[in-house]
Amino acid sequence: MRPRVYITRRLPDAVLSSIEAECEIRMWNESDIPVPREVLEKEIVNADGLFCLLTESIDRALLEKAEKLKVVSNMAVGYNNIDIEAAKEKGITVTNTPGVLTETTADLTFALMMAAARRIVESSDYLRNGKWQTWSPMQLTGQDIYGATLGIIGMGRIGASLAKRAKGFDMKILYHNRSRKETIEQELDIRFEELDSLLEKSDFICILTPYTPETKNLIGERELSLMKKTAVLINTARGGIVNEHDLYHALKEGEIWSAGLDVFEEEPVALDHPLLTLPNVTAIPHIGSASIQTRTRMAELAAENLLLALKQRTPKHVVV
Ligand code: NAP
Repeated sequence: MRPRVYITRRLPDAVLSSIEAECEIRMWNESDIPVPREVLEKEIVNADGLFCLLTESIDRALLEKAEKLKVVSNMAVGYNNIDIEAAKEKGITVTNTPGVLTETTADLTFALMMAAARRIVESSDYLRNGKWQTWSPMQLTGQDIYGATLGIIGMGRIGASLAKRAKGFDMKILYHNRSRKETIEQELDIRFEELDSLLEKSDFICILTPYTPETKNLIGERELSLMKKTAVLINTARGGIVNEHDLYHALKEGEIWSAGLDVFEEEPVALDHPLLTLPNVTAIPHIGSASIQTRTRMAELAAENLLLALKQRTPKHVVV
């Protein structure tokens, strides 16, 4: 009997066909609305494989219902939406899609850094709202990127790719990571710093760690108070790593200059979220890996992982 697979969102046709060639599939056929929890709870009961996105919470309660489930294939590198311990206990393989999204996410992180430093979105709104009356010396002035100091928290795949881009802008690069990365230090001429000292010295701070119990609220009131008043904070990792309440106050009181946020604690972020009222916040809807090429590669890799696990072969990227 062909394995049964549940897919939580409409996928590109070619990827869907590759799964359909080997499995019986059922799919939530909407592209813009996540699968309702009650539907997922029903579908998981008979599924041998699950193809899911970071919008689905694959928690213990859901996995308890999954009597036949062998694999959860997440179309993301981050897997904080999955209860890894519960999956491990139940002998369910969990896979992710690292690597294929590294360069695209590093591009977006750099773009957000530039947008937040040079007030690109705010300036565009200024023009469109008819406020542009004349050119004046200090109008819409921002922070220089070229030659500034960049502090990267989380020197993994994306962190290292971001550092490579920053070299081209003659930036001085500091990093903090739970383990030292001596090869990258030498290759890219970057310097390890303890977290507090990185926060004090950096003009730009980019967060690129996974979201784990250790990184939850890694940046809060105390950490924000250590940053320069001209600091630009960029988060393209996960929302919960920064305490949003504390960030709002730091930005409002001018304790730091601006922030660029691709990720939020609750997604989609509520339109009345205080952070969205601030002109010095550049906010975008979790589009770090959103290029046509990369999203296609992520879907292909997630499909490949799923099919390998269902054939009891080792998937390309196993979390547990
Ligand atoms: P990665 O290669 O695993 O890099 C993560 C780095 O963070 C590793 O070097 C790791 O150190 C370090 N780290 C982990 N916990 C830490 C801690 N408590 N303190 C300091 N450093 C810590 O992952 P990646 O591919 O670069 O992706 C990073 C994260 O970006 C993902 O987990 C995901 O949440 C996020 N992401 C977001 C988007 C988006 O669309 N916005 C797209 C892709 C990824 P070790 O080497 O010691 O493990």
